[in-house]
Amino acid sequence: MLDTATGTLVDPVQDGAATLYVCGITPYDATHLGHAATAVAFDLLGRAWRDAGVAVRFASNVTDVDDPLLERAAATGVDWRALAAEQIALYAEDMAALQVIPPDAYLGAVESIPAVVSAVEQMLAAGTAYRVPTADALSAAELGDVYADLAADDQFGEAARLDGDEMLALSAERGGDPGRPGKKGPLDPLLWRRERAGEPAWDGGSLGRGRPGWHIECAVIALGNLGAPLSVLGGGSDLAFPHHEMSCSHARALTGSPSSGARAHVHAGMVGLDGEKMSKSRGNLVLVSTLRAAGVDPMAIRLAILAHHYRDDWDWSDEVLATAEARLGRWRAALSGVGGPAADETLAAVRAALADDLDAPAALAAVDAWADAALAGAVAPVEGAPGVVARALDALLGVRL
Ligand code: ZN
Repeated sequence: MLDTATGTLVDPVQDGAATLYVCGITPYDATHLGHAATAVAFDLLGRAWRDAGVAVRFASNVTDVDDPLLERAAATGVDWRALAAEQIALYAEDMAALQVIPPDAYLGAVESIPAVVSAVEQMLAAGTAYRVPTADALSAAELGDVYADLAADDQFGEAARLDGDEMLALSAERGGDPGRPGKKGPLDPLLWRRERAGEPAWDGGSLGRGRPGWHIECAVIALGNLGAPLSVLGGGSDLAFPHHEMSCSHARALTGSPSSGARAHVHAGMVGLDGEKMSKSRGNLVLVSTLRAAGVDPMAIRLAILAHHYRDDWDWSDEVLATAEARLGRWRAALSGVGGPAADETLAAVRAALADDLDAPAALAAVDAWADAALAGAVAPVEGAPGVVARALDALLGVRL
């Protein structure tokens, strides 16, 4: 895998076992093609590991309370809980349709609040977190919001490797609050937000009522379900900073161990639409559920994603989908016979491509070559070969024909 923290290829598997944590969605615009591409990328990794005999444990989260969800619910006049529940269900349906294997542990932010409260209390006691008084909290203002003190972490910044200005800009753009008065450092991230008027809040023990920050949510869920360090910490490339950097910093603070982050930080590229960034504000989100409702075969969507290397940024378009649908049709035709070209070399080529930093396009090319040979009928058919290829496509690529 390419570890984006070091820019080098690493093998994060140790002693035949691997843990994978993939940051899940905030449920308000599920499931656009970017979500789907990230999920498929890490599903492919899990499949390649399992095929190689690696014992895989996979955890993920759903950020079922956070500012973007509350803002969307308020803007559209729906209850935030109803919006979250509807979008979480839609996401699960889309993932099942795309043959994404579910996590072994799948937790929400809300159900993780007791564990987050304990973690934040531990950081306050250790001096790696501090309180910032709040003027607008509903009660006991002196308890304050709680922030992590990044100055206590020598390794902060090692994963994303950005300069100070870049970190400040990304923090402001991606949910941070570098301008908040009273913080020790502008990048210090929120761990616990005290209750405000009109916002949901939960019992926070000695922290006072409130709700968790985003980065501590993932740190706590990952540590609690997978331990440390993670073999792979994954997500879209827009999570590299601040989210993954902060989550790893929190994990170090909680374990007291400098090696509690991830052996490999792995980031999937962004998916645009016809040359533009896909975003709700531009009104150009392509949703998996919309495509499915229009009769698009989910396996064509999966093949369209797999036609791009997971690390690359790419654009969804009608042409990308048409190419995938044509490929799906060719593969189905080639697999429909009782006999076909021998499967061994094709399987070896698919496995080699996946072992080479998940080179899915090369894996598809190997299957294309087999399908072309099968359709040409130029080689003596081997009975049962199409079945072998079909089962391998299902297991290795998650493409069920
Ligand atoms: Zn996360």
